[in-house]
Amino acid sequence: MNLAKKINVCRICKSKKLYHFLDLGKQPIPNGFLKKEQLILKENFFKLACFFCRSCGLVQLTHVVSPALMFKNYAYIPSGAKMMLNNFSNLAYQANHQIKLSKSSLCVDIGSNDGSLLKFFKAFEAKVLGIDPAQNLADVAIKAGIPTEVMMFNEKTADRIIKSHGKADIITATNVVAHIDNLHSLLKGILKLLKNGGIFITEFPYLLDLVAKNQFDTIYHEHLSYFSLKPWLKLISGYGFEIAAAQRLQIHGGSIRLTHRRRRLKHISRVVKYLVDLEARQGLHSAQGFEDFSKRIFNLKDQLRAALKNLKDQGKRVVGLGAPAKGNVLTSFFNIGVETLDYIVDSTPLKHGLFSPGKHIPIFPESRLLEDRPDYGLILAWNFSDEIIKKHEKFKKIGGKFIIPIPEVRII
Ligand SMILES: [Zn+2]
Repeated sequence: MNLAKKINVCRICKSKKLYHFLDLGKQPIPNGFLKKEQLILKENFFKLACFFCRSCGLVQLTHVVSPALMFKNYAYIPSGAKMMLNNFSNLAYQANHQIKLSKSSLCVDIGSNDGSLLKFFKAFEAKVLGIDPAQNLADVAIKAGIPTEVMMFNEKTADRIIKSHGKADIITATNVVAHIDNLHSLLKGILKLLKNGGIFITEFPYLLDLVAKNQFDTIYHEHLSYFSLKPWLKLISGYGFEIAAAQRLQIHGGSIRLTHRRRRLKHISRVVKYLVDLEARQGLHSAQGFEDFSKRIFNLKDQLRAALKNLKDQGKRVVGLGAPAKGNVLTSFFNIGVETLDYIVDSTPLKHGLFSPGKHIPIFPESRLLEDRPDYGLILAWNFSDEIIKKHEKFKKIGGKFIIPIPEVRII
């Protein structure tokens, strides 16, 4: 079975002028937490590196790992985080402002997860429909009263949805387009499913934030594409869409929310033009910009490793705080294992007793921090740094210190 395929042409524009950068070597799938009995088995490692398309500007992984392998054990991640729910509530409120929702309106969410976004649309009395390939997530959504179809969304399944549910007034796709290999089939499906006058809203981590804040650890196998607006505009304009509104968001280290309509205007909106200019200044439209980014990440690796070595030389004990997928990218690529981190604490009970992929660092409940009193906590879930520091105030009071690795190494 072919577990990974190499990309030869750009996913958006089909160009072969692809510039190779940020080679992180072979890495395990970062969501593949291991049980104790699995530690002796051979782990799959897959190439992790990026291409920058010199033609349209899309950043994409050089290899696509088989989705069956990546999402086989897709851990149910409750979207309970308050920040996420606030964001969804805000999205639904804005959408209702643009298209007055009524009992006859249909809102379709692609990659609907446990249905938490659609609950907000349902509150506006609209009909809702979730689309998600994960049966376990769909079950949770259906139980909560959110009708959900278990399928991948594409041009073909769009036809089936239209037959059984009709066309949509609003289509949403949050944190899912980066996972989709065939973006053209996605757009064709959306074009079919959306009513004339309907809106398509998407959110994804914004490449501008990723590069400006050195967030290299959000680059991993599940995320096939990293979008700036330049290539995204190229993709959507091919299907007659325009960006009616663009809004930068704090979530996931920096995301962007884009509202699309069928094209009516000939000019690009001022906000979009401003952001595209900003991207160019940040170096997102040139190979050199990504070469510089790559250099910064390798420097960061040296800095963090040196800082940790210094602490270990002084006999200090260090543990990891938070076990998100990105934390596993960081420890794997920076080659930080159990010789440095005694263990990782995490608030998700599902992860307790498991081991991180690659480095096999054990994961414990957060209560261990106060019982065990290590000297330093390396914050692996840096996008929640403030919350983590607040949550572990007692650890700080007893002399515990925090190491924040990104965008630069800081000790607090
Ligand atoms: Zn391209």
